[in-house]
Amino acid sequence: MITTQQKNNKKNITFFLLLSLGAFLLLWLSPLNPNHYSLSLYPVIATFTGALHIQIGCFMIMNYLSYRKNKHLLPLACAFHSSGILLLIALYIYFSHSVPQGIIFNDIAILHSLRIILTTGLFLVALYLYKNEKKQQKYNQAIVCSVFLWCFLHLAVAIFYSTHPTSPSLQMINLATYEWLYPAHGLFTASFLLLWLGIVFFIIRLTQLKNQFWLSMSLVALSNLVILMTLFKYSYMNSFGWFVARGVECLGSMAVMTVLMSDIFHRFKASRQAYELSYENSVRDPMTRLYNRGYFYNSLSNEIKKSHQRNPISIIFCDIDHFKSVNDTWGHLQGDRVIIKLAELMLSQVRDLDVVARIGGEEFAVMLPDCSVENAQDIAERMRKHIERATPASTNDDFPRPITVSLGIVSSVDCEIAAEELADRADRALYAAKNQGRNRSVIFTGDLMPSPVV
Ligand code: GH3
Ligand code: MG
Ligand code: MG
Repeated sequence: MITTQQKNNKKNITFFLLLSLGAFLLLWLSPLNPNHYSLSLYPVIATFTGALHIQIGCFMIMNYLSYRKNKHLLPLACAFHSSGILLLIALYIYFSHSVPQGIIFNDIAILHSLRIILTTGLFLVALYLYKNEKKQQKYNQAIVCSVFLWCFLHLAVAIFYSTHPTSPSLQMINLATYEWLYPAHGLFTASFLLLWLGIVFFIIRLTQLKNQFWLSMSLVALSNLVILMTLFKYSYMNSFGWFVARGVECLGSMAVMTVLMSDIFHRFKASRQAYELSYENSVRDPMTRLYNRGYFYNSLSNEIKKSHQRNPISIIFCDIDHFKSVNDTWGHLQGDRVIIKLAELMLSQVRDLDVVARIGGEEFAVMLPDCSVENAQDIAERMRKHIERATPASTNDDFPRPITVSLGIVSSVDCEIAAEELADRADRALYAAKNQGRNRSVIFTGDLMPSPVV
């Protein structure tokens, strides 16, 4: 049977493959633009992409710090951080006027290659860590050290290049015409393409794109593939293709950022729902789903503080008559069914703001804020009659015998009274109802005897 998770995976993989197909078709079919452009737009795009990459890196670090078991986030965070720093170094080079323009753009091309080598390496490490996340890793520390060393090495090379005084040692473009030279155009691009293809394959194979995070990482890989294919198609650095590549990189980063943010909101929603569920479970009785004793007394204490002459608070205690005999004759299971049915019947007779709780085995309590004693008695009587009417003895074993209840009512306008004291008065009224023959409601008066301690 296909699970929802598998369906989601399939949906994500299909979406990714369709997107890839669309991107490649667009690339393939779009006519070659022969124009050469000024590279003056470069710093704007580099600043934007660099800032985005550093921000993505920060998101991942925060994610990693909140759940350290996700070790794969560390190399990925390093990849985005380092990529952002390399872009900023490229910016620094761009604005260093003491060097001829050809050399500046050659350096930017070198930094671009460095960035690809750096990020592909870290993506592969991240996938390795993801695959082995569940296993106890012997080499974890060594891997983390290698990740930092790898970043440090690339950044050191980049800084060296950004400060070198004279002619470049590695010529990637023709310094006069900005035409890509071999091996940059050809060998490098083909190797990088193969590397990213491998990464796409491993991401799909290992993660099945099972969540939005890995879907976004596959988008990063796809944007890199599109960038490299664009560079293949155009043989000049100042061509339309270079800007398309930068634009794709920018869009890819924005997509990652959006996905990461939506991931955070999803987690927030899930944790809030989990909290609400656990809170509900902590204040409700599992059998009837009415509120439990603790919640009832807490709410009662709070409501008592708000009560005054024009705003009395009333409570009703309710106990099933001769319930032991139900259990003894028809068994506990049938007894439970009766308790559940009674909870429903009581709930149907009160307002939304009233609190109905199960405070003992077959004992219930109802808190009625802003309710006079006369109204409370009306409600208690309505409840009693409704229960009696709704539970006639039936042959289909629903109710082995008619179920009746006794109720004790108390009302107060004293905002100083303790909840326990008010509850004790309701209990005494209930005890009186039992003594007077059951199946009735009694209002508390000061002369009532204390109920016996069981
Ligand atoms: P009275 O009219 O005086 O109230 O008589 P009673 O038999 O109802 O006496 P009491 O209120 O003391 O009965 C409590 C009984 O309720 C004892 C216990 O067997 C039963 N009981 C308590 N909790 C549960 C429960 O969760 N399920 C079931 N089936 N029975 C319960
Ligand atoms: Mg009882
Ligand atoms: Mg009882």
